[in-house]
Amino acid sequence: MPTELMPIERACELVLARVSPLPSEEVALRDCVGRHLAADVASGEDIPAFDNSAMDGYAVRSADVAAATADRPARLRLAGESSAGHPAEAEVGAGEAFAISTGAAVPGGADAVVRVEDTSRDGEEVLVGAAVPGGNNIRRAGEDVRAGARVLSAGARLGAAEVGAIAAVGHPAATCARRPRLALLLTGDELVEPGEPLGPGQIRDSNAYAVPPLAEAAGAEVVSIEIAPDNHEGTLAALDRALRADVVVVCGGISVGEHDHVRPALAELGAEEVFWRVALRPGKPTYFGIGPGGKPVFGLPGNPVSAMVTFLLFARPALIAMQGGDPASHRVEAALTERYETVAGRAEAIRVGLEAGRGGWEATPTGPQGSHVLTSMIGADGLAVVPTEVDVVEAGDPVTVELLGWG
Ligand code: AMP
Ligand code: MG
Repeated sequence: MPTELMPIERACELVLARVSPLPSEEVALRDCVGRHLAADVASGEDIPAFDNSAMDGYAVRSADVAAATADRPARLRLAGESSAGHPAEAEVGAGEAFAISTGAAVPGGADAVVRVEDTSRDGEEVLVGAAVPGGNNIRRAGEDVRAGARVLSAGARLGAAEVGAIAAVGHPAATCARRPRLALLLTGDELVEPGEPLGPGQIRDSNAYAVPPLAEAAGAEVVSIEIAPDNHEGTLAALDRALRADVVVVCGGISVGEHDHVRPALAELGAEEVFWRVALRPGKPTYFGIGPGGKPVFGLPGNPVSAMVTFLLFARPALIAMQGGDPASHRVEAALTERYETVAGRAEAIRVGLEAGRGGWEATPTGPQGSHVLTSMIGADGLAVVPTEVDVVEAGDPVTVELLGWG
């Protein structure tokens, strides 16, 4: 049995070294939020597609209004209109103005737009009370994005703005990495579903509810959730089924107790153990291995907080990397607001709430940090990860915070 605990930075490196991006697929834009691009997105067209007006007003020839002032307005004949979606067919001639609305195409012949506030109407004439330079209030074709230009890079995680931008450049779908299919296995004879009566020595299966949303937020599709009993045969059969997915997460049964069957069962199934037991509190018994077919397998401690912490620190980066994303994209630096003593010889993940302070983010521990105290996960925004070699964090000291949500 290895007695050395694996430093968490090294553990994370080992995980990332053993996972690779899944194949890509075309995804309709409405289903893209939360997905990662597998290819750059280039614009299919100029944005804007044509010269258009930035204001409601009149399209004019700037030479016609060069001498205009509020006291001596230029008089132009109202000869046409260009509105959004209905460009003018005729050209603006000398001494003419066309009414134009915001976003409407600038008609030929005109080289400037006078805003409506600088004009008045006199029957079929427009009085322009201000001179404007050529190009005034005109948004040029291709000013925002040129046709062919890259608007998003492979690996980008798609949120509202990204999906909007892909639509704006003309694509109805995007090439995204396939979502990792994740099998979740809970272990323990003591586990009881919420809503069922609790017998002597039994506890609620909370990991079956807390872990899937973390997996889904990281882009995974949870394809099975199963409870394995605390015996070898049952664990073996459940793991064998779970290994049909792309990635397996097991909670509990990975420690050194007599009823911890996960490691031996994984070994029997031919899994290669990459590490077991990390220098982290909470989360020491964490296991990572590669199952048959190159499937990553995470064995997380059963304690609800330990399971969440180790999922976030080890499994989430792997899921993001399997989608070609940046596993470190949800980390911020913050100042811890109170003194905190950590256990010697292990890194510590402190549940913290974040607030914006004058000098940046401020992180405050949410309450008692025992690995069984699930309620102190409530209201936590992230995990302040204090490295092994630091035993005391003074109030105001910087810490790295792994955000719980995507941020
Ligand atoms: P284990 O890692 O199996 O030794 O479990 C450590 C602790 O976590 C024990 O107190 C278990 O009862 C508890 N535990 C294990 N699995 C779960 C689960 N799915 N939900 C809530 N608690 C669990
Ligand atoms: Mg157990």
